[in-house]
Amino acid sequence: MKIGFIGLGIMGKPMVKNLLKAGHEVVAYDIVAENLQTAVRDGAVAGKNAAAIAAECPVVITMLPNSPHVKAVVMEKDGVLEGAKAGLILIDMSSIAPLASKEICEACKKKGVRMLDAPVSGGEPKAIDGSLSIMVGGDKALFEEMKPILSCMGASIVLCGDVGAGNTTKLANQMIVAGNIAVLAEALTLAKKAGVDPETVFQAIKGGLAGSTVMNAKAPMMIEGNFKPGFRIDLHIKDLNNALETGHKVGAPMLLTANVQEMFEILHADGCGSDDHSGLAKYYAKISGSKIGK
Ligand code: NAD
Repeated sequence: MKIGFIGLGIMGKPMVKNLLKAGHEVVAYDIVAENLQTAVRDGAVAGKNAAAIAAECPVVITMLPNSPHVKAVVMEKDGVLEGAKAGLILIDMSSIAPLASKEICEACKKKGVRMLDAPVSGGEPKAIDGSLSIMVGGDKALFEEMKPILSCMGASIVLCGDVGAGNTTKLANQMIVAGNIAVLAEALTLAKKAGVDPETVFQAIKGGLAGSTVMNAKAPMMIEGNFKPGFRIDLHIKDLNNALETGHKVGAPMLLTANVQEMFEILHADGCGSDDHSGLAKYYAKISGSKIGK
């Protein structure tokens, strides 16, 4: 199938490669010329803009930073809806606010465009090997129709509810990951201050109830003092802002998320926004005067 793909960053580039590998034709676009050139070198055709891509492809995928970017690419001048014919399918795989997904879907409906929100987790490594977890919101029949395309990029593809449910699920994921990393940093800082080796604590508890994928991935980074991303603090700030905004709109208490968000904001102000989110260890080093690792 001819698939339009807009947003060729860390995630978009390898996702395009996997669509090409599966035999699809990809017409790609990014405002950064270098990113577009990379996708063309990989086998994609360069699109002129989102409107032109929507006019020639029956399915368009977007993989952009946040809600305002997706709204602009879909709803503004030279955007998807400008070029779309009725029957077009839009799959937004960006992590954005669920309420923005619903707003975009309403605008799509007016032009006869069907939409799924389908954010992902797994980061660049799983985007490269095509094993992302994809959390989908939208109509069940459309989900089934698009599953073969999503399967080129993901290993787990779950329909979570109506449009917006994919991004609500993604926010839950991001809240749980952030809270886990924060308490891990707090606990390993306690161990260090109490004179117990953080590495020994990690080895002793990782097989028990406290053990987790987050602990296995992030404790070694904290102990090494290696905060190379991975997943950048600035992206996590974006996701937690979307979670707080959604929580406030629907009346869900966001006590822990708000605290971790403030920690991330402090790290951002300290110039650490491009560090991995395990850099929460640096926040605890700052307030405790004691580093977990090197
Ligand atoms: P990125 O910043 O690397 O890529 C975004 C791309 O969108 C860039 O190439 C940018 O030039 C392009 N873009 C921005 N505005 C545009 C416009 N108006 N028209 C065309 N292109 C435009 O981001 P990423 O890491 O690839 O993440 C994309 C989405 O996936 C985000 O919502 C992010 O939260 C989510 N995500 C990222 C990861 C990760 O580990 N990086 C993991 C899971 C989910």
